[in-house]
Amino acid sequence: MKKINLAVVGYGGMGAGFHVRHALTSDVVNLVGIYDILPERRAAAEENGVYAYPTYEALLADERVDLVTVAIPNDVHRDVVVQALDAGKHVICEKPVAMNCAELQDMIDAANRNGRIFTTHQNRRWDVDYLAMQQVIDSGEIGDAIRVESRIHGSRGIPSDWRGIAKFGGGMLYDWGIHLIDQAMLLIPETVTGIYCCFDHITNDEVDDGFQLTMTFESGKTAYIEVGTYNFIPMPRFYLRCKNGSALITDWRENCQVVKCKYWHENDVLPVQTAAGLTKTMAPRDEITTDSYELDQPASDVHDFYRNVCRAIAGEQPQIVTHQQLMRVMQVIEESFRSVEAGQAIECRI
Ligand code: NAD
Repeated sequence: MKKINLAVVGYGGMGAGFHVRHALTSDVVNLVGIYDILPERRAAAEENGVYAYPTYEALLADERVDLVTVAIPNDVHRDVVVQALDAGKHVICEKPVAMNCAELQDMIDAANRNGRIFTTHQNRRWDVDYLAMQQVIDSGEIGDAIRVESRIHGSRGIPSDWRGIAKFGGGMLYDWGIHLIDQAMLLIPETVTGIYCCFDHITNDEVDDGFQLTMTFESGKTAYIEVGTYNFIPMPRFYLRCKNGSALITDWRENCQVVKCKYWHENDVLPVQTAAGLTKTMAPRDEITTDSYELDQPASDVHDFYRNVCRAIAGEQPQIVTHQQLMRVMQVIEESFRSVEAGQAIECRI
């Protein structure tokens, strides 16, 4: 396949640190240049040997550029993306794709009227912890999923840049929530019927510096998503309860542990003596009634995202991150904000 010519908008953490670096070693894209609104970031690019367009208009006017990746703060995604699509470019937008569903619809409309590929860098679909959860569910080894718990915990507070400021699209629901909601909706591919969300404001009053979100699905399955930036002892990354066992991933670098139930009989029960009395109900199981094993980490290459976008541009593959998926995740984000404001659960059909 012929390489696709790429230009990157925003030469910051993600633009310079991921997209440009990736493009320089990519087998599917060829980096033509970057544009950043700040002259010092353009100068930094040139010092690194990367051509910097003097204006965004100059980048869009360059007919060599097929594909534009937009890696700038969240509040300006919509206008910059629509401008690129209207200039006839294909576009990858960083996550969260937009601030709300109306903005996202404007972007989708622009892609459709120009017949261009438009997608979002949902790169955490390639995280091995998420892929392991998907593998456990898909294999059916421990039965149907009942509940997925997905947590990301740090202890450094929210970053002190634009992520702490509401008008720029700051807050952890936009920042990490968008990834974990996307993953949860792929793990439980059903209509979302209920949303209940609470925000933390421990290090930042203006935006959520953490949140707890429960999503209920049509069949009664639930996903619990928690992001915290003030957790000095992190909880496990993933916990999955299925009809016939459980799975746990303690940390995103660790393998998935699975415990599968072999027998329901109670011959093995040794009551647990606690300070206040005995319990048989909560007695742990042993190897007579359960199988315990660890899964190897699934193979993953995050560069498959760009490979897919380029093949979609060439008409060889459908895009992996679809408009419909982006819209559903954005609807969950909107309903989560509504739930926080109302202080109660919201019924929905997403
Ligand atoms: P950043 O602040 O490090 O960099 C943003 C850059 O964009 C800055 O250099 C800024 O000068 C430039 N900029 C701002 N407005 C611009 C405009 N209108 N035109 C051109 N340049 C402009 O931010 P970041 O961490 O790189 O985040 C950028 C985007 O990437 C955000 O949407 C963020 O959520 C996303 N992101 C995604 C991941 C991921 O894993 N997918 C990780 C980090 C950030």
